[in-house]
Amino acid sequence: MKVVTTLDDLRQARATLLGPVGLTPTMGYLHEGHVSLARRARAECASVAASIFVNPAQFGPSEDLASYPRDLPRDLELLAAAGVDLVWTPAPEIVYPAGFQTWISVEQVAAPLEGAHRAGHFRGVATVVAKLFNAFQPQRAYFGQKDAQQAAVIRQMARDLDFPVEIVICPTVREPDGLAMSSRNAYLDAAQRAAAPVLFHALSAAAAAYAAGVRDAENLRQLMAGIIDAEPLARRQYVSCADPVTLQELDGPIGRALLSMAVYLGKTRLIDNLVLGEA
Ligand code: AMP
Repeated sequence: MKVVTTLDDLRQARATLLGPVGLTPTMGYLHEGHVSLARRARAECASVAASIFVNPAQFGPSEDLASYPRDLPRDLELLAAAGVDLVWTPAPEIVYPAGFQTWISVEQVAAPLEGAHRAGHFRGVATVVAKLFNAFQPQRAYFGQKDAQQAAVIRQMARDLDFPVEIVICPTVREPDGLAMSSRNAYLDAAQRAAAPVLFHALSAAAAAYAAGVRDAENLRQLMAGIIDAEPLARRQYVSCADPVTLQELDGPIGRALLSMAVYLGKTRLIDNLVLGEA
């Protein structure tokens, strides 16, 4: 596995890879969710590339950029074990050199949900992913369903800007108790960790209600909100039952829907989602 930091070294190493190339962008502090993307790329592509970059542009001023967990040696071991061929670990000045002033803003699909609570977040995500697509020239790029709106934003950006890359969305990997794996789970203390599966419990209860015939979007939102609010350590930021493509909030009877939520446990903000009515 080759590990490079400069853009020139990345381009040289990329030129030696056989296609199709599958790219797995990450912010590091890897867990089984990230590794599942790399493994899927390994199974489907001739060459597998990954990036480890904690992207300052997608963090708000009061968010956790400075404290975001990092462990590069361990990350590289995990990527090597997953069969990754090439890893780019650029410094922020390489991605955003002095004078940088070009940004990509996806509009409607980036506006609600995470976009409404994290100003500028998806502008940072879309810009860095476009730069990664330019740098790696992948034929396929692998993202997690865990970040459902991010996946929708990247699909939209790739389509609108004609990136010749297939966007592949992989299922959310969970801990045995249902908590979606996340680098941010490392922030939780023991009591918060014990309470954290409440997100999955709320989503699962709404999915069970849907399976039992409940179709009213507001009923499902209230069901999820009630379960979150009953957990004393959890503070609900939003719960949503939205169209899985447009991410607009649904009203009345639903067919397919994306259930999603953001919940604070102390200072740690967790998100999770589930799709209803999947084929
Ligand atoms: P991050 O390092 O948090 O930016 O995540 C990098 C990629 O891994 C994104 O495409 C995420 O959606 C994906 N990812 C993160 N957590 C999980 C998970 N639990 N299951 C599947 N994919 C995940």
